[in-house]
Amino acid sequence: MASISEPARQTPIVHETDVLVVGSGPGGLAAALAAARAGVDVTLLERFGCFGGNITVVGVEGFAWYRHEQTVEAGGLGWEFEQRAKAEGAAVPESQSLSYELDSEGFKLVADKLVLEAGIHPMLHRAFVAPIMEGRRVTGVIVESKAGREAILAKRVIDATGDADVAHRAGAPMKSTPREELQAASVMFHLAGVNKAAFLDGIRENPSTYASWSSGEWQIETTGKEDEMYSPYLGKPFDQARAEGLIPADLDTIAGTWGAVHDSGELTYMNLVHLSGVDGTDPDSLTAFEIEGRRQAMLAIDALRAYTPGCEGVRLRNFGMSIGIRDTRKIDAVYNMTETDVREQGRFEDSIGIYPEFIDGYGILILPTTGRYMQVPFRSMVPKGVENLLVVGRSTGGDKVAHAATRNMACCAVSGQGAGIAAALSVKAGAPMERPDLTAVQAELTGQDVRWQ
Ligand SMILES: Cc1cc2nc3c(=O)[nH]c(=O)nc-3n(C[C@H](O)[C@H](O)[C@H](O)COP(=O)(O)OP(=O)(O)OC[C@H]3O[C@@H](n4cnc5c(N)ncnc54)[C@H](O)[C@@H]3O)c2cc1C
Repeated sequence: MASISEPARQTPIVHETDVLVVGSGPGGLAAALAAARAGVDVTLLERFGCFGGNITVVGVEGFAWYRHEQTVEAGGLGWEFEQRAKAEGAAVPESQSLSYELDSEGFKLVADKLVLEAGIHPMLHRAFVAPIMEGRRVTGVIVESKAGREAILAKRVIDATGDADVAHRAGAPMKSTPREELQAASVMFHLAGVNKAAFLDGIRENPSTYASWSSGEWQIETTGKEDEMYSPYLGKPFDQARAEGLIPADLDTIAGTWGAVHDSGELTYMNLVHLSGVDGTDPDSLTAFEIEGRRQAMLAIDALRAYTPGCEGVRLRNFGMSIGIRDTRKIDAVYNMTETDVREQGRFEDSIGIYPEFIDGYGILILPTTGRYMQVPFRSMVPKGVENLLVVGRSTGGDKVAHAATRNMACCAVSGQGAGIAAALSVKAGAPMERPDLTAVQAELTGQDVRWQ
């Protein structure tokens, strides 16, 4: 590809901090809060105008839809996000579980409050573009914004971009899933104008189960115990729309779940559009699929209007601010989690948290209905090849099936909280972040109400 040379330039240092967290999804928000509560100066950097990542940017509201009577919970900030949202009127009971569904708009305010209460320095509207390196050590970041190009220096850096942007640009090796095997992306949307009573009557008369997720080419592996359980799955309206020509017959990926139906007539977290082959690290691919996803969403809405009771008068309320990307870069970590770890209750001496046996992705759905759980190892957040950087959230080290567990938002909060505490304690001790005093980290985790064993 042809290229140009850019002249060298002086970049102003606009800010210095103890712990810099780049990205503010469930992983980054938890990392920043945990570090701040452990007593150091924390800065939370985000490219968009709100904190919350996929929750607020994409409209992913199902934070703990896995929870059933026997589910063992991780506690900590994941639990707190849900409870705080509930207390602030930013969550409603979730239809398939013992959890609360977050309100993607209301959670913007919840996140603001959490950040400000913890004394975190907020930096919205700045995109990370390059690491500042001293040898292999990450010592800060370059950001770009309406203010131009700026430098931020940090004693410790946490990459919570979801795409491992910082680790990748710092030269850390990646172990990403091949593009053709990536989980589908989705353009999410919310609707207005639903007749709630008629919609719920229709769902009761025509209930779906998790077995309904399997149809045609789309086959879902369960343990069997999930098959007869209720699921808010909508498939039939789209089958009918394909049969009658409202949706092209070959567009067989329109189907999926609805989230919450509100008294105000809103039907939110509509997870009905599934786009394969999207590269979430390629802006040309993102451009094409944003447009294609919106087109498909409107076909889905046409089908809902025609074939779903209560939806006759619905209209689009809004799309998520961005296409929802499930799967991009994964670091090659000091320890990469395995399918066995998540299926067989992995246990680790360097555990920084637990997560119930919930596997959702790559054609597998296992719900934590039995009390089984795994531990999350600190080493899965330590990228090889670079220093002074931890990676949290959906790009930690692990194989595909491991990610079907660790990518879930409450598990991203687990890794975030563990990393935030490790970063804070390493600043206080003047010790390397990659080799933390695990006893001290686990004690602080306990102090922050995290279950880690
Ligand atoms: C459509 C869809 C449905 C899903 N459904 C569920 C579900 O029901 N339950 C569940 O638990 N999980 C679900 N997931 C998965 C879950 O949402 C993600 O895996 C999770 O949010 C990842 O958290 P994270 O903190 O790693 O990253 P993200 O939530 O992606 O947050 C990353 C943040 O970093 C910011 N950022 C990225 N790059 C930069 C940069 N260069 N500079 C500055 N900021 C940057 C982003 O703007 C974003 O705010 C779903 C995902 C999708 C896409």
